[in-house]
Amino acid sequence: MRNDVVILGGGVGGTLLANLVAKEVGEQVRITLVDSTGIHVYQPGFLYVAVGQEKPSALKRAEARLLRREIHLVVDCATFVDPAAKKVVLKSGHTLRYDELVIATGSRTVMAEVPGAMGAHDFYTLEGAIRLHKSLEGFEGGTIVIDVAGIPYKCPPAPVEFAFLLDDYLRARGIREKTQVKLLSPLNRAFTIEATSKLVQPILAERDIELTGFFNVESVDPIAKTVTSMEGETVEYDLLVLVPPHRGQKVIEDSRLGDERGWVPVDKNTLKHAAFDNIWAIGDATSIPISKSGSVAHYEANVVAAEIVAAAKGEAPPLHVYDGKVMCFLETGQGRATTISFDYDHPPVSPTPARRWHWAKALFNKTYWHTVPLGRLP
Ligand SMILES: Cc1cc2nc3c(=O)[nH]c(=O)nc-3n(C[C@H](O)[C@H](O)[C@H](O)COP(=O)(O)OP(=O)(O)OC[C@H]3O[C@@H](n4cnc5c(N)ncnc54)[C@H](O)[C@@H]3O)c2cc1C
Repeated sequence: MRNDVVILGGGVGGTLLANLVAKEVGEQVRITLVDSTGIHVYQPGFLYVAVGQEKPSALKRAEARLLRREIHLVVDCATFVDPAAKKVVLKSGHTLRYDELVIATGSRTVMAEVPGAMGAHDFYTLEGAIRLHKSLEGFEGGTIVIDVAGIPYKCPPAPVEFAFLLDDYLRARGIREKTQVKLLSPLNRAFTIEATSKLVQPILAERDIELTGFFNVESVDPIAKTVTSMEGETVEYDLLVLVPPHRGQKVIEDSRLGDERGWVPVDKNTLKHAAFDNIWAIGDATSIPISKSGSVAHYEANVVAAEIVAAAKGEAPPLHVYDGKVMCFLETGQGRATTISFDYDHPPVSPTPARRWHWAKALFNKTYWHTVPLGRLP
């Protein structure tokens, strides 16, 4: 009898993993991928939508078009996982049996966790990025505050990148002189990665982007247009862009498969669930203290796929392991970018921002649909 491999989530990690397993052992195992929308969204593009450099329609594809024919796609929302019965319950009422389960459900943003913030802008959903762009188009000067409302959040450099892209946008519109841009961070630096923060902080200062550290947002007053920190500081804004608090998906919380924020505890090398041998988690869904980024989901998908393939072929275990590899681009504006690379054994390294990294990121973004989810990049 063929083993049932069930994958929850058709984002970067889930789609790539399904295709890798199908390519190798698509005839030997039954692969089912469950995705709540059936639409694959390329989230790094949200930054460019917000500043009018990308069309929203370019960031979406039908998930079915990205999957190999051996994969059975179920468009439905997983609402409960029962590890004892090896079953996943779906919103439609159907259930799926699994022998091996991979959780690749990503993360969700919860703006409501910040009192008063429900009307704030964000670029963490496509709808948020579209709305932010509309507001920026109507903006004629004043104070724009970018505030990181909690860690972890997706793509650690994204708020800094947004600040630089916003600076470019305001200059192009001729309203930079009339606009103050402020970046508020809960840390004592621009973002989590210290070496890259040190590299970008002087550039933020050069571009007149004011960085305030140790600002842990407590609440927003949308009438007075102020944001207040737990440290007791209050900052005024005309337009507020919040990086919303993130947590794992409800299905993880409801199934008690995660920690108190819904992140799935896995071994940082094998990516196996701390309590269940036949459950893995990859990408943003895990509790590993590493960047929640597409590159991590990509490298982790390779590892888990190799394990599932080896088991299906009856090859001796183990072991394919995730070494903590991360590789991201960071736009520094004015047509330049840097990169951030590291793994568990090597600290982050970022080269001096250069045009070639900006073009490399642009090329990566444009070719994404033909590369990462299809397994065409290592
Ligand atoms: C503005 C922005 C910029 C970014 N820039 C970069 C960048 O430059 N480089 C980089 O590497 N990363 C970047 N990222 C981060 C990257 O997009 C994510 O880390 C990546 O998408 C995570 O992949 P994933 O497969 O874990 O989850 P996702 O890609 O989020 O996919 C999760 C999938 O699970 C589905 N799902 C959720 N719950 C359920 C459920 N209950 N049942 C069924 N399906 C469900 C969702 O519909 C979704 O399709 C950026 C993100 C943002 C928002």
